[in-house]
Amino acid sequence: MVENEEGGSNVGIVVGKDSILIVDSTLFPSKFQQILDFCNPLARKPVIGVFLTHYHPDHSFGAMKSPLEKLVNENTQRVLESLPESYLKDLRSRLGSSGRELSGLAFERFIKIKDGSSVDLGSRTVRFFHLGGHTPDLTVAYVEDAGVLFASDLLITTVHAEIVEDSDLNAWTEAVERLYDLHIDHLVPGHGISVKGTENLLFTKRYLEFAMSMIESLYHSDMKRLDLPSEFQQLRFPELLAEGVVRKLG
Ligand SMILES: [Zn+2]
Repeated sequence: MVENEEGGSNVGIVVGKDSILIVDSTLFPSKFQQILDFCNPLARKPVIGVFLTHYHPDHSFGAMKSPLEKLVNENTQRVLESLPESYLKDLRSRLGSSGRELSGLAFERFIKIKDGSSVDLGSRTVRFFHLGGHTPDLTVAYVEDAGVLFASDLLITTVHAEIVEDSDLNAWTEAVERLYDLHIDHLVPGHGISVKGTENLLFTKRYLEFAMSMIESLYHSDMKRLDLPSEFQQLRFPELLAEGVVRKLG
């Protein structure tokens, strides 16, 4: 696990007896390369590919200069392959000088993975579930023997949720509910710290209920009901919630 204090996305390194799978790739190819450099001496096993949980650049773009195979849901592939040049240009200019390394990304070497399919790393199976919610393509990775779930941006632990244009809050809630059936010892979110146990599934559900009620209240201009409940006041980057609600109202 590679965690980022600034709220950047987490990366998972799943090590089996024979091979390694990386989960997500950060925004920057240089950072992703550092992670690969870290993996090599770690286990002396081949990295068979990088699984991308969804198309968002802070999870997927780091891998886009790597020759590694990218394991993705078909919707993730479709979105990445059809990103307009204006989107990339806009992102690069917002990032300033650090955006320069996002030139020349190659959206290729995709391997489609289906809901429920798995890869075997040698005495260790990683299974993928396409759940949607945060984005329609969002897919999680479950390390069966270890009970570790890479829940990506479906899960909230210490950072507010990113509610984006194509987030579906009802589908998101249903996606979280589907995870109850799994035996989970550790939950890894897309941003923020990983946690033991499954309490944060319920926490996320309550958060989504609050976000929906907030959107509903604002829609009806009932400003009285907008206080952030105490259990969500510790979460970092509250502007994410404000931006998400504004997006959904727009
Ligand atoms: Zn995301």
